[in-house]
Amino acid sequence: MSQEIRPDLAEVRQAMRRFAQERLEPVAQALDAGETPPAWRGWLAEQGYLGMRLPSAFGGAETDLSTYCLANEEFSRIHRVFTLVLDATSGLTPIAIARHGTPAQQQRWLPGLCDGSATASFGLTEPDAGSDAAAIRTRARRGDGGWVLSGTKHYISGAHRAAVIMVIAVTDPALGARGGITAFLVPQGTPGMVVSRVDRTIGSDAVELAELRFEDCVVGDDAVLGDVGQGFAIAMGSLTNGRMSVSASCIGAAHRLIEIAADWARQRHTFGRPLADRQAIQWMLADSTTELFAARAMAYDTLRRADNGEDLGPSASMVKLYCSEMVGRVADRAVQILGGAGLVRGSPVERMYRDVRHYRVGEGSSEVQRLLIARHVLRDGLP
Ligand SMILES: Cc1cc2nc3c(=O)[nH]c(=O)nc-3n(C[C@H](O)[C@H](O)[C@H](O)COP(=O)(O)OP(=O)(O)OC[C@H]3O[C@@H](n4cnc5c(N)ncnc54)[C@H](O)[C@@H]3O)c2cc1C
Repeated sequence: MSQEIRPDLAEVRQAMRRFAQERLEPVAQALDAGETPPAWRGWLAEQGYLGMRLPSAFGGAETDLSTYCLANEEFSRIHRVFTLVLDATSGLTPIAIARHGTPAQQQRWLPGLCDGSATASFGLTEPDAGSDAAAIRTRARRGDGGWVLSGTKHYISGAHRAAVIMVIAVTDPALGARGGITAFLVPQGTPGMVVSRVDRTIGSDAVELAELRFEDCVVGDDAVLGDVGQGFAIAMGSLTNGRMSVSASCIGAAHRLIEIAADWARQRHTFGRPLADRQAIQWMLADSTTELFAARAMAYDTLRRADNGEDLGPSASMVKLYCSEMVGRVADRAVQILGGAGLVRGSPVERMYRDVRHYRVGEGSSEVQRLLIARHVLRDGLP
């Protein structure tokens, strides 16, 4: 049974898998054991995985969405932390800079994302505006020689370490999301932008969410990404692509969880027989494998269409909804099959069970995806 995104990517997948198993797996083990792993980011840069979707003129590999998602899938089989680095150098904000940045903005930020010396964060969510992103209140007013930002962003992945943060702010409250929101590229260390706290989540410790406070934070006109008023569309465009890479990460994690659960079922004996002989266990493995098969089919089909230039429309929402819910069920069954061994801290299944919980909330929760899908069906009919 073979499922591939595209036939020409089969060898690319093998190379990614080999690299992940040989180089990244020991890093993951060190991270899980609370040890300091070797400097693995440099390896990702050497292999062209950092900034992999960015233009080659800046050091990127200029890959298509399918290849990028394949890296997310293969790396998330090992540890979620590696996909976070892919996102911070090729995901939401880097892609927005590549698409909408001026030549000067691209020259300033993209080379560092490709060589591993910099990361970028995406600053949309606020204490009073998460799912309802159009309700953001962070304000950007015209000031002397540029713009003055004020407000608070929270849950911003890695923003306390990022070289640049794309901050989505209201420039015209009367227009709101229809032309009144603008994206700004704010360099780390800009006076008036303060990292006020860093939160940890139930996922692996590598995931850190920063709260940023803006108090009379002045940026120049050269910080505006795209046109004034285009910020909401830029943010939503990035999120649509992000939903595909998140889905690929869900697929990779589910694949690994099923492999571990199946191995365990073969080896673990209860009442004198392997667990694998029990129908109750077989059915859990069968359900997980069937759901993974369906997830791959829908994700890969959507990716092929995206590579051909088709608008993803509601497809990305359907794929993200299904894949993120699917991996939650798969992780739950894997823990059940391993029993106590699936709950002990430090085991990959225990860590992945916690890590995958985030996928149903981040980059648009399951409820928000349903809302977007339903809105499309009611307005335009079935996709
Ligand atoms: C690990 C992690 C990383 C993140 N990284 C970033 C980042 O880098 N940048 C960034 O900007 N944000 C980031 N976020 C924030 C994330 O995007 C938000 O948490 C998410 O959009 C949900 O917003 P909220 O937490 O405010 O929940 P709320 O919007 O308050 O929603 C709470 C619950 O109600 C549900 N709900 C909301 N509205 C409706 C409705 N109309 N109908 C039915 N149900 C509804 C939601 O689905 C959710 O289950 C991150 C979050 C996490 C957990």
